Amino acid sequence: MKICVIGTGYVGLVAGAGFADMGNDVTCCDIDGEKIAVLKQGQVPIYEPGLDKLIAHNLQEGRLAFTTDISAAVAGAVVVVLAVGTPPAPDGSADLRYIFQGAETAARALSGWAVLVTKSTVPVGTGDKVEAIVRQHARHKFAVAANPEFLKEGDAVNDFMKPDRVIVGTSDPRALHTLQALYTPFTRSSDRILVMDRRSAELTKYAANAMLATRISFMNELAGLCDAVGADIELVRKGLGSDARIGTKFLYAGAGFGGSCFPKDLRAVISTAKEAGTHLQILAAVEAVNERQKHLLAERLLEHFGGGLQGRKIAVWGLAFKPGTDDVREAPALVLIEDLLAAGARVAATDPVAIPAARKILGERVEFQASNYQCAEGADALALVTEWRDYRRPNFERLYGLMRTPLVVDGRNVWEPSDLRAAGFTYYGIGRGG
Ligand code: NAD
Repeated sequence: MKICVIGTGYVGLVAGAGFADMGNDVTCCDIDGEKIAVLKQGQVPIYEPGLDKLIAHNLQEGRLAFTTDISAAVAGAVVVVLAVGTPPAPDGSADLRYIFQGAETAARALSGWAVLVTKSTVPVGTGDKVEAIVRQHARHKFAVAANPEFLKEGDAVNDFMKPDRVIVGTSDPRALHTLQALYTPFTRSSDRILVMDRRSAELTKYAANAMLATRISFMNELAGLCDAVGADIELVRKGLGSDARIGTKFLYAGAGFGGSCFPKDLRAVISTAKEAGTHLQILAAVEAVNERQKHLLAERLLEHFGGGLQGRKIAVWGLAFKPGTDDVREAPALVLIEDLLAAGARVAATDPVAIPAARKILGERVEFQASNYQCAEGADALALVTEWRDYRRPNFERLYGLMRTPLVVDGRNVWEPSDLRAAGFTYYGIGRGG
């Protein structure tokens, strides 16, 4: 099957390489010439485990190509995937300009029937708007389907190759037949293709992210209660998660959620509801709790040091919004660092892969260190923000010797408070009992 993927970011690149790996002929295109040039040289512009091998293999087999010539890539394709960004507009709604641009370019370039598949996360009703744009510019018959993507950064290749479910939103028989043929190889062990109307498919993606974000904010709010009453959120989490009706996932209290999806998708679905004349009270609270949570680590440090951080060095471990990715979009570490700098601290930061991305945002205001121990050298406090594996069992004796003040703020509850206290550290976690 000839496929064109428009937008070669985290989703488009993984999807393009994944489709190619199933034997399809895929061209990934982007308006970002630099990105395409890097990919053409056989390099991968983002960090995603396993993606480099997948791309290299399919490039070698001649099934995967990269171009900035979107029209040429669309011509002859039976599936045109829109995987462009849908960033938040200032009012919180999803900015759909890249979707509409991509749809228009694709429509003009169609050389025969094709299904335009919206893989980007888009508000309910976007499929209707895309269809109207394509109808205006296309000279051939076409269909527009919703096919939201559920991969998670850090494990995106696995998620894409072995999806929990594939949602196909269309009522067009030819589009449905084409997409079933495309996805069946990904769901061979059991049929996990769910077919529904386009609007329900569009909303399902927001519903999934909103539910996951709700669980996190729920636990963060409960962690605040744990601190107030002397309970331990980690014990509560275990007791709660062992209930099969609840399950263990997404129940971790921490320094707040970030990334390119949860915060923006929450705002977008709240905005959709407002436009539709309804109000999503729970999700408004989820967002408010998260905004407060992202400032919690800095507040702990300010409280500890009596209100100011002048002359203090604070070490920050972890910049990516979660382990396994170099993505720092809306990362809690960025909020913490801005708070620390505003309070007069000198900040040193480290991360296994996200330093280049963070440097683009923070510039020279932060001292970046490749080694986590060098980062902590002479520090008055160490804040752990991203639970990379490298940070889970550090040599605390070594850290104790390196730091000026043995104080840790564990923003992901990965360290055992009693061990740290026994080793001479002052320990603050999230909801570990005050
Ligand atoms: P991204 O910013 O990494 O990539 C988007 C790409 O689209 C960029 O390379 C950009 O240059 C390109 N682009 C923009 N306009 C274009 C145009 N007119 N023609 C061609 N290329 C164009 O974004 P992403 O993280 O891959 O997310 C893409 C979409 O998928 C978003 O709607 C997002 O919400 C959704 N999504 C993301 C994830 C994730 O984990 N990142 C998961 C599921 C869904």
